[in-house]
Amino acid sequence: MLKIYNTLSRQKEEFKPIDEKTVRMYSCGPTVYSYAHIGNMRTYIFMDIFRRTLRYDGYKIKGVMNITDVGHLLSDGDEGEDKMEKASREQKKTPWEIAAFYTDVFFKDLAKLNIGKPEIIAKATDHIADMIEYVKALEEKGYGYEIDDGIYFDIDKFPSYGKLSRLNLEDQQAGARVEVNSQKHNPYDFALWKKAEPEHIMQWPSPWGQGYPGWHIECSTMSKKYLGEVFDIHTGGVDHIPVHHENEIAQSEALAGKKTVNYWVHGEFMLVNNGKMSKSLGNTYTISQLEEMGYSPLVFRYFCLNAHYRKKLNFTFEGMDAAKVSYERLLASLYQHKMSNEKTSQEVLDKYKKDFEDAINDDLNLPLALGVLWTMLKEPKSKDIYNLALDFDKVFGLSLNEAKEPEGEANKDIPEDILALAQKRFDAKKAKDFATADALRNEIKEKGYSILDSKDGFKVVKD
Ligand code: AMP
Ligand code: ZN
Repeated sequence: MLKIYNTLSRQKEEFKPIDEKTVRMYSCGPTVYSYAHIGNMRTYIFMDIFRRTLRYDGYKIKGVMNITDVGHLLSDGDEGEDKMEKASREQKKTPWEIAAFYTDVFFKDLAKLNIGKPEIIAKATDHIADMIEYVKALEEKGYGYEIDDGIYFDIDKFPSYGKLSRLNLEDQQAGARVEVNSQKHNPYDFALWKKAEPEHIMQWPSPWGQGYPGWHIECSTMSKKYLGEVFDIHTGGVDHIPVHHENEIAQSEALAGKKTVNYWVHGEFMLVNNGKMSKSLGNTYTISQLEEMGYSPLVFRYFCLNAHYRKKLNFTFEGMDAAKVSYERLLASLYQHKMSNEKTSQEVLDKYKKDFEDAINDDLNLPLALGVLWTMLKEPKSKDIYNLALDFDKVFGLSLNEAKEPEGEANKDIPEDILALAQKRFDAKKAKDFATADALRNEIKEKGYSILDSKDGFKVVKD
């Protein structure tokens, strides 16, 4: 039974899907105005681990991810330029060209990281008509009002506003966090639709004149369209809790008249050198940049899996170097199990499988699950262990099936007497004296070593 931490209740809860077989899940996708950085990728690795765990538990998934190619303004308070338009001006390309370029890079990065693509990818600009209908419906129900620069959501009509972030509106009212537009009824009211200035490139006709959608309406509209009014899981990074997801809840619940998402699940941030990642500090690395520096995307994935998704993860190159060494050791050890012809008892295998399942089902505890894998690899070399590791890899997504012979001189640190026994066994096998060969293999095993046969010889490894 999967337990997952629900941001709404601030508790680990037993996961019970609405439909017994298919889990419906919405994940906030990228704003495609620039390269996604490793922090963004941490959040998508978390989404992927969640999806893989659900599948490991036997569920099918209908997952939706949006691509924000319009409407995400520079500030979360509905002010500033549209991020797409800004990039378009700076790069002298149309916003559509910008979106197409960065969307393509984004999916290539996901593939490199073994992040499975959600079943439905929905672009905001393909759903403008749906969003207009949604805003109209909210207006009809009395939740929207028009001012000079757009249509706004009236949060005073939605008394539970702030429940996800446990925002105390009374304390916050005077706070300077939200820019105050003098025409807004409440500083927390947010734009459903913005009216466009003539020079705004991306604009569409609407009942309120030419304009473009607010950022939050995109997710409420597309989740309802593809997953229905009420669905199981919504994911995103923790930065989305206070504004974006709070606003999504207000829109969706106002329209539906009931709770629309059962589990809100958020991934913690990645820091760099214990601080915020930011372009101005020059510390927002991309997956391609890591590759250029000699770190494969799967080393980065391994680095991420070593931290629980609800803990901050500090990115450092020392940490990445350690992850690289560890990941290579993991593949080397797996290779030895792969080449072994020995067996492991079902009882032992069952125990590891249970430990693994307990770990992943306890709020996606991947660091613990990796610990189970490492302990299991310390067992005497056996093909069964290798096969079970591949089963675990359905969740890890670390391409463990690519375990290959580690580089370096074979049989380097093996004592002479063991090597002599191994040579005798090899000769016996060649002479088809299998009884002697088996006896020698057992003798070697008792001394704590295993023989791996290779095409033209043998290799001895310490158990
Ligand atoms: P954005 O394109 O800004 O909407 O961000 C895409 C996703 O990445 C969102 O789910 C964010 O919450 C997440 N995100 C942004 N910065 C970080 C970070 N430093 N660490 C982890 N996740 C992040
Ligand atoms: Zn969203």
